[in-house]
Amino acid sequence: MAVLSYKCPNCGGGMVFDPENQNYSCEYCLSDFTQAELEALNPASAQEDTPNEQSSSQAEHIGEALIYTCPSCGAEIATDETTAATFCYYCHNPVVLSGKMSGKQMPALVIPFKFTQKDAVERFTSWIGKKKYVPSDFFSKKQIKKMSGIYFPYWIYDCSVQGGLNGSSRKLRVWRAGDIEYTETSIYSIRRSGIIHLQEISRNALQKSQGRMMEGILPFDLKEAKDFHTGYLSGFQAEVKDMEKEAFEADIKKEVDGYAKTLLTRTVNGHPNFSVEKFQSHIKNGVWRYVLLPVWILTYQKDDETYYFAMNGQTGEICGKLPFDKKKLRTSCIGLFAAITAIFTLIGGLIFL
Ligand SMILES: [Zn+2]
Ligand SMILES: [Zn+2]
Repeated sequence: MAVLSYKCPNCGGGMVFDPENQNYSCEYCLSDFTQAELEALNPASAQEDTPNEQSSSQAEHIGEALIYTCPSCGAEIATDETTAATFCYYCHNPVVLSGKMSGKQMPALVIPFKFTQKDAVERFTSWIGKKKYVPSDFFSKKQIKKMSGIYFPYWIYDCSVQGGLNGSSRKLRVWRAGDIEYTETSIYSIRRSGIIHLQEISRNALQKSQGRMMEGILPFDLKEAKDFHTGYLSGFQAEVKDMEKEAFEADIKKEVDGYAKTLLTRTVNGHPNFSVEKFQSHIKNGVWRYVLLPVWILTYQKDDETYYFAMNGQTGEICGKLPFDKKKLRTSCIGLFAAITAIFTLIGGLIFL
């Protein structure tokens, strides 16, 4: 399996994708290269050695891990089955395990990281600063600096759904004429049908990732996605999928039906007690796309607990569980209680005046 290291044509240093300029920069001589220049130097399909791309092709299974040889220094690089881009532990050169992204594992699209690690750290620091009940010593600057940029695999689903529903609603009218009270009950039979187009229903496709967290940072804007090229992964970590789309089909069908039913029900106006009796749906033109999306990840160990945080590498949306400082929470509740008591006393005072 091919292991690539993108090399600077000027000095031979490792080239990484630079989110700030959306191009490639050499970490040593600071030269910049565009996507087109990188592709000219390292054609996407080229798995063989070229002057600007060092590669090695050994991969050996040892237990759960796969061992590769670093094309820059020859050291061993141990990875998980799903790892597709990482760094050499010894020479720190970025390596892309391009062979892991061939055939069915070839992503259709990638959204390149949109902001740098420095920006991610700043966004995170300001986000945590706004959280009132987090213990002040929870995050040290040093810890936050360990944030890593990882491309995660997702399945994206688009489809049209032909939906129809039948239901009924009742309305009562009561009036009086002389001594007689009349009640009129109108029963409405209501039908709705339509075609609904749904786009970008997303599922995290890596078992070992924190699924709920990875879905908590959705959505991504796929309009900014690029055709996949291994170069985007250089300088980041990347994971490939280990869950196939078939695993999500039943769940997606349920989600699609849910949207269709809700949207059709919403078109029934003026019948507050409308209830659906029959719902049918037929999904058409379902298309799945396998994509790699950028996520900044931070893990934090405290009091034997591991906290995980994920930040959308395109929008900056953050998701993760925070510890609560009970002391801070109590102080704030007492403040609130005191304020409420004060208002009640005041109102009470006015009433009794
Ligand atoms: Zn260079
Ligand atoms: Zn190395």
